[in-house]
Amino acid sequence: MTAIHLNNLVKRFGAFTALKTMDLEIRDGEFMALLGPSGCGKSTTMNMIAGMENPSEGRILFDGKDMNGVTMGRRGVGFVFQNYAIFTHMNVYDNLAYGLKVRGTPQAEIDRRVKAIADFLQLTPLLKQPSAKLSVNILQRLAIGRSAIVEPAIFLLDEPLSNVDAAFRAVMRTELKHLQRQFRQTMVYVTHDQLEAMTMADRIAVMDHGVLQQVGTPLEVYNNPVNLFVADFIGSPGMNRLKGTLAESDRGLVVDLGPLGRTQPLDPALAAVARGNGSQEVVYGFRPEQVAVAEAGRGLALPVTFVERIGARTVVHLGDGEQRVKTVFDNDVGLQAREMAHIAIDPGSVRLFDAASGMAIRGT
Ligand code: ATP
Repeated sequence: MTAIHLNNLVKRFGAFTALKTMDLEIRDGEFMALLGPSGCGKSTTMNMIAGMENPSEGRILFDGKDMNGVTMGRRGVGFVFQNYAIFTHMNVYDNLAYGLKVRGTPQAEIDRRVKAIADFLQLTPLLKQPSAKLSVNILQRLAIGRSAIVEPAIFLLDEPLSNVDAAFRAVMRTELKHLQRQFRQTMVYVTHDQLEAMTMADRIAVMDHGVLQQVGTPLEVYNNPVNLFVADFIGSPGMNRLKGTLAESDRGLVVDLGPLGRTQPLDPALAAVARGNGSQEVVYGFRPEQVAVAEAGRGLALPVTFVERIGARTVVHLGDGEQRVKTVFDNDVGLQAREMAHIAIDPGSVRLFDAASGMAIRGT
């Protein structure tokens, strides 16, 4: 187990800055996901932790020790990539055993550990199979096993599940979390898939355009996104956002949503902070899951554009143009396309953002 500190880390490729001043503490034994869209600098960060790239500025510390100049081999990290690096001329057993053999581990110990990891990853029936003939799913599982077997203090995984099929991905999400719990490694997991990050990570570092946006537990980033980017990126669908203007009413501070009318009064604590915001132009945010169907004449009225059924969930799309909203229900709420829907949003789940900066308006 090792804690990782990224200290004012910057990475430039020529004139292009791929990573801008990244400060992040990854705790001992923590499962940290680096989450963000393609090109945001996740792999660049990971490669620097591994020792494959040198930072342009800043430092990487493992348990307080500066890793500058320490080669990958000496950092004690296991690394699994999207493109599994498997020796295709070897069978499954020899691939798993490889890292232990090169370290001179006694044969009996190799046998014991190969058996344990093969059982864990359900590779036991395949141990004698040549690797060249294995499916993508099995190869990726083998790549994870090959890195995990040497029990590195730090385990780095860069999009390890992006090439595998959806059903297998769901299985592996559970297994990887289980693996990390069992070995209590510090795990850094790169993904652009918010579901992977939300289901596996202890904390998530959300990145965009080379900038760390927010670090928090899955619930923190879901419930209290620091800005509109995080609000949108986390959740499927992301947070609803309606542009409006703050307005006083006799029942408290509300948001005037133009053609959609006025919202319910804001929660008093949020209203107090919002009154102190420099601008009255805001974005009214709420999660698709935190909406209830209201009686006619109450809540916001929007036309239903279409209704999507995804298994037990119903996603109802409402409104058009800039005033579009998605709502998610656990059951069929009986709304039909083209009818008028009335939705109520619990004031406690409303989030406000400054329209110009996109930053959350909230107390400290
Ligand atoms: P992806 O999932 O697509 O790999 P990412 O978030 O991991 O996305 P990075 O691979 O870290 O993104 O890349 C960040 C930016 O740095 C991208 O714009 C990429 O083109 C650029 N970049 C990465 N490596 C290099 C390099 N060796 N030379 C020049 N630019 C690079």
